Amino acid sequence: MIRGRQGESIEHKAKKQFGQNFLKDSAVLEKIIESMPKTKNKIVEIGPGLGDLTQKLLSQKDVIAFEIDRDLCAILKKKFEKEIEKKKLTLICEDALNHWKEKLIDEAYDLVANLPYYVATTIILRALKDPNCKNIVVMIQKEVAQKFAAKSGEREFSSLAVLAQSAGEAKILFDVGPESFEPKPKVTSAVLLIKKKRSLRDSMFEKFLKTAFKQPRKTLLKNLSAGYNKEILKNTFEKAGIEPTIRPHQATTSIYHRLYNFLEKRTIDGREKQSSAE
Ligand code: SAM
Repeated sequence: MIRGRQGESIEHKAKKQFGQNFLKDSAVLEKIIESMPKTKNKIVEIGPGLGDLTQKLLSQKDVIAFEIDRDLCAILKKKFEKEIEKKKLTLICEDALNHWKEKLIDEAYDLVANLPYYVATTIILRALKDPNCKNIVVMIQKEVAQKFAAKSGEREFSSLAVLAQSAGEAKILFDVGPESFEPKPKVTSAVLLIKKKRSLRDSMFEKFLKTAFKQPRKTLLKNLSAGYNKEILKNTFEKAGIEPTIRPHQATTSIYHRLYNFLEKRTIDGREKQSSAE
C-alpha cells in the first residue's frame, strides 16, 4: 500500500501491470525540474501516478497528463481539483498510446515523465516521430537510457542511439537508485534528455537499422546481407568508403544515413534521393 505525502490521505496499491513505481524522493523530483529545457512549450506527462512530479511541474507551467489507471485518475481528480478547474492541468484518463495518432497533442510540447518501464522504449520512439514533441526528459531503466544515449564505438551503441541522434542530441543526466521509489524496482533508473532538432519521418529507416543491428557481434556487412544483395552491399561499402569489417556499433550515425541513402535511394526524412556520398 502506497501512502500519500504528509497531510494527504491517499492509499493505493501499486499495479505491476502498469509499471507503477512511484518516485518518492523530493531531491530527485527537484533535479528533474531543474533539467527541463527552458522553453515556452506545454508540458506533457505520461503516467502522473500519485501526482508528485505533476505537482512540481505545475509550479512551472500548464500540464497535460495521461493516466491509464482509473483508480489513480480518481485520486488525481480530487488532488488537483482546483488546477483542473483553472485549466492549468488537463487530465486525460486514457492509455497514452491509444490516444497518440501522428501527434499526441495539437501544440508544441516537451515530454517530462517518469515512464512505466514496460512501454518506455515505445513511448520514446513515438515522441521522436511526433512533430509536436520538441524535447524529452524521461526517467527510464538505466540500461535502456544507455542504449539511447551511447556514442558510436561504445558497446551499448544501438539502433535506438542512431534514431535518437538522427532526431537530435541524447544524453543521460543522472542515475537514480531503486531506493528513491515505492515500491522499489529491481533495476537502477536514469534520467534521459533528448533535445530534438527534427522529427523522424521515415519508418523504413527504423526497419533498416533493425537489420543492421540484428546480430551485434557480426559485421555490419553480414547483418545487412540478410536484406540486400551481397555484391551490391560490397560495392556500396566501397563507394561510401566504409570498411567491410566494421561492426554495427562502430559505424557512426552519418554512416547509417549514407548507407540508407545508397541502398534505399531515400533520405531519412523520407525524401526520394538519388545516391550520392554526403
Ligand atoms: N509519475 C509518477 C511518479 O513519478 O511517481 C508515476 C510513475 S510510474 C513509473 C508510471 C505511471 O504510468 C503509472 O501511474 C501508470 O499507471 C502509468 N501508465 C502506465 N502505462 C500507461 C499508458 N500506456 N498510458 C498512460 N499512463 C500509463
